[in-house]
Amino acid sequence: AKQAGRGGYTHYDEAFGAALREQAALEQDLRRALLQGAIIPYFQPIYDITGRGLRGFEVLARWSHPERGFIPPDVFVALAEEIGLIEQLSDVVLDKACSALAGWRTDLPMSFNLSPRQFADLGLPHRILGILERHGIPGYRLEIEITERAVLADLDIARRIIGDLADAGVRISLDDFGTGTSSLALLTQLPIDKLKIDRSFIHEVDLLPHKAKIVSGVLALADSLGLDVTAEGIERDEELAFLARENCALGQGYLLGRPQPAPSIAELIEASADQ
Ligand code: C2E
Ligand code: CA
Ligand code: CA
Ligand code: CA
Repeated sequence: AKQAGRGGYTHYDEAFGAALREQAALEQDLRRALLQGAIIPYFQPIYDITGRGLRGFEVLARWSHPERGFIPPDVFVALAEEIGLIEQLSDVVLDKACSALAGWRTDLPMSFNLSPRQFADLGLPHRILGILERHGIPGYRLEIEITERAVLADLDIARRIIGDLADAGVRISLDDFGTGTSSLALLTQLPIDKLKIDRSFIHEVDLLPHKAKIVSGVLALADSLGLDVTAEGIERDEELAFLARENCALGQGYLLGRPQPAPSIAELIEASADQ
């Protein structure tokens, strides 16, 4: 930095320095949170759209930071990927989720998100299956949610990882289907069992004819390929009614149920068993 630019550089250095310190502090906090068990699974219920019966849950990681409050999983999952903590984070959340699942009076399946970075690791299936086994949960009760972004880096490795999981009965679901990160191409390349229609298509699907046509088209495609479908992000009665008319099998969204901690899911299961 020469004289002329000095003021500017100093200002920039300070702002940059502050951002770095902030990032370093958050990293420290994330490491500590993992050690202290402060990152926990929430569960969002998944329902049968026509019958309204409970059909499963999606595990969503939550971190309630002592000073910063709620930090979105998008943020701390990305941070964990960046600093090499994603395996640890994923294993901790899966372990706690399996522990909850094993204690509930239900045979319902559970969906679990894997992040792109994890698809470079051929040891992944062994670790996932080991966690299931420790809790006595059979492979068919786990569904893995992936995006295309996850498997594009090395399709061969991804295929081996997904193949190993599928051999153990684990089901494979293509998340955020229809967005840039999950497309048709993957359906020909991997043993996919289910599509999750991204919530951007569900939002106001009853009001916007072009979205309605896309959703109907995806449902027809899934039907002809023998794939299951879950519609994500259902917020309004009219959206649910549209999906019911179109014979979409499964749905999740704030209208049906928010992501919740394990104890409230246990209550939900008891309530639905009493019906
Ligand atoms: P995702 O897998 O697409 O998860 C669905 C997101 O939609 C969740 O956000 C959920 O809370 C939210 N959602 C559900 N219903 C509605 C609705 O009706 N309206 C709206 N506006 N949103 C709804 P969340 O929990 O903030 O998670 C964001 C993303 O973080 C997830 O997107 C997933 O990609 C990632 N993530 C969360 N937990 C994990 C995890 O344990 N491991 C990994 N690798 N990623 C995770
Ligand atoms: Ca998901
Ligand atoms: Ca999704
Ligand atoms: Ca998403």
